[in-house]
Amino acid sequence: MQQNYSKYFDEEGHLNTIGRTLYADAMQLEKVEKLPDSLQQHVNDCSFCSSLIVVLYDAIAELNYSDLPSHPLLNVSPKGNFTLSDNPQDIERILEKLMAEAVEIPSMERLLKNQIAYRKLGRIEIKVNKPTPNALCFNQLDFELEEALTESADLSIRNHKGRVFRALLPKGEKAYSVSLQPKENYPNGLYYWKLTPANGKPLVGKFYVFQR
Ligand SMILES: [Zn+2]
Repeated sequence: MQQNYSKYFDEEGHLNTIGRTLYADAMQLEKVEKLPDSLQQHVNDCSFCSSLIVVLYDAIAELNYSDLPSHPLLNVSPKGNFTLSDNPQDIERILEKLMAEAVEIPSMERLLKNQIAYRKLGRIEIKVNKPTPNALCFNQLDFELEEALTESADLSIRNHKGRVFRALLPKGEKAYSVSLQPKENYPNGLYYWKLTPANGKPLVGKFYVFQR
């Protein structure tokens, strides 16, 4: 089926400009998994193309895609996934409000942008399936890793006022839940989690808390 996607590759089999741009856009929208398999496969295997994409990604990472209704090629809404879906419209409304009022932490935003690039290129060892990007959490924050930890990892959570939680996840851990109680310790708003393996690079993600 690779032939169908030949418009993304040059004669030497590397990604052409269209392919690289599409890949970088998909990273920005966190939708790399929606790309044709041939594209994903090639970028995983080819350090030449992946390094060009990182440069491109860095150039667009400062742009705000959140105002786009959808991507012309990827055809997806750039909004994040939700962990809870008991009433999708309410959740979307709550999340939009929290995002609009969010107080970002510049140092965490920088970490996040750099590591999204590396994570999409398969250069980060731990894969976090949950929480999904910009998850909205009510009572607890659930972590689900693709594979059990091969070494202990430090988990911390913070908002713009400072650190609100810290725990050491033992080796072998694959799922972990953080209770967002008592409520006064976790006021509504934007939070960052940071998971740092004993001998690895930190992973960072954002989530939103709404106490109901
Ligand atoms: Zn290549």
